Amino acid sequence: MELESKAPYVLIFPLPAQGHVNSMLNLAQLLSLSGINITSLNTDHNHNRLVFHTDILDRFACFLGFQFKSIPDGLLADHPRAGDRFMEMFFDSITLVTEPLFKEMMLSGQLNSATGQLVPCIITDGSLSFPIDVGNKLGILVIHFRTISACSFWAYFYIQDMIEAGKHPIRDTMVTTLEKEDMDYFIRSVPGKETFLRIRDLPSFCRARNTTDSNLQQVKNMTRQSPRAHALMLNSFEDLEGLVLSHIRTKCPKTYTIGPLHAFFKSKLESKTTLLQSVSPNSLFEVDKSCMVWLDAQPLKYVIYVSFGSITVMTKDELMEFWYGLVNSKKRFLWSIRPDLVTQKDGKDQIPLELFEGTKDRGYMVGWVPQEEVLAHQAIGGFLTHSGWNSTLESIVAEVPMICWPYFADQQTNSRFVSEVWKLGMDMKDVCDRVMVKKIVNHLMEKRREIFMKSATEMARLAKESVSEACKKRHYHYNLDHLIKDIRLMSVITTK
Ligand code: UDP
Repeated sequence: MELESKAPYVLIFPLPAQGHVNSMLNLAQLLSLSGINITSLNTDHNHNRLVFHTDILDRFACFLGFQFKSIPDGLLADHPRAGDRFMEMFFDSITLVTEPLFKEMMLSGQLNSATGQLVPCIITDGSLSFPIDVGNKLGILVIHFRTISACSFWAYFYIQDMIEAGKHPIRDTMVTTLEKEDMDYFIRSVPGKETFLRIRDLPSFCRARNTTDSNLQQVKNMTRQSPRAHALMLNSFEDLEGLVLSHIRTKCPKTYTIGPLHAFFKSKLESKTTLLQSVSPNSLFEVDKSCMVWLDAQPLKYVIYVSFGSITVMTKDELMEFWYGLVNSKKRFLWSIRPDLVTQKDGKDQIPLELFEGTKDRGYMVGWVPQEEVLAHQAIGGFLTHSGWNSTLESIVAEVPMICWPYFADQQTNSRFVSEVWKLGMDMKDVCDRVMVKKIVNHLMEKRREIFMKSATEMARLAKESVSEACKKRHYHYNLDHLIKDIRLMSVITTK
């Protein structure tokens, strides 16, 4: 028996959503820079959007062993793929359409690299468990990459225990019948979070009417699949989530922390060891860069940036509360408003005069911005965010304190950690009125600014350190270098 070494080769497969695609493509670029051949599998819908709105084909062309492949997501072209219809894609159409096609593509060798080599390793989104089954059948190692925070992964992981213990309010009476105060009960049964996690901070799926709710069940079950994978990867860093990570490693011992990925990639570019020259957003939306000119004309740390990410939707009333709150705060604001952010459009699009005037004087609104660039701009002093994990990490690295208005999924937990554990801002979950928005914006930008800036500066330092050479010296066992070694090992093919 002899060992034959070939160029390492990995198939990466993100969940079809902006934050997941972003993280995976950042990872793909980092692995490519380390000499690993990659096939990146996106849904047809997202692949077409990426090609249409970005330069990905040119950008990735400098990696010789890189190829894009695509697969249907099973939805009609005009399906919104956002808001409460996002989960239709997540569980229904992916299971019905994408899963069998994926199996077929793997079995028929359609996803092999140009060298015709069998895929030795799949890095799949940790929300998808079927690649583990396919991997087991074909003798391929599968790494689960959850693109969420460690703290929310752990909360997801514990849903089953909470239900079984019967201690948790997820019972057949559930949250619809809970009084407002009940939502503030502390959850004592999640290790590492006993003192600050309330019912309202659990992932949004826990607000289901009963424990048989299909989304709750699916989320619970899929998270429990990760220990079956060869390893778990999280886009996080030890100084941020060390305590929770130590709990996760009791269930998934090989848990790599490779974040913040976008900062990692940027630091590689700065080291000038690559043909790639700049960081470009991997956006599924048309990026409007005009806001950068507007930002250039604003005073230092004066602007609050507002964005609710790629999936959040809100009612027109909620939009108006935020808008009035921002205008009434008298602070300057830059607002990234996706064209499909607002549901229930009522056709009366006339903007009240005071909002129009206030926005003309102090605001700038645009469909989709280059967010990393915006957050790094010297005029930005705060971020009103939905607490998506990518946005949270981008804000941490840019040293920008946050106001959190979580919409769904992991965001409810992230926002609690931002405010209570990391002290990087304020959490206004479950509240949406103009008086509160005005008050909280003023607190973040003025009254409590110093306190938040102190924590933000320190956390940004730790985030940058975690992607630096210095971090390697601290010998974390499960960092990016170790992951790359692990992948190389998987690519050593055993032959007779
Ligand atoms: N984003 C962007 N421009 C915008 C709004 C968001 O480039 O105008 C990017 C942002 O930088 C982040 C991603 O979209 O990388 C959103 O991911 P996140 O995990 O924060 O939230 P999701 O969209 O998944 O809810």
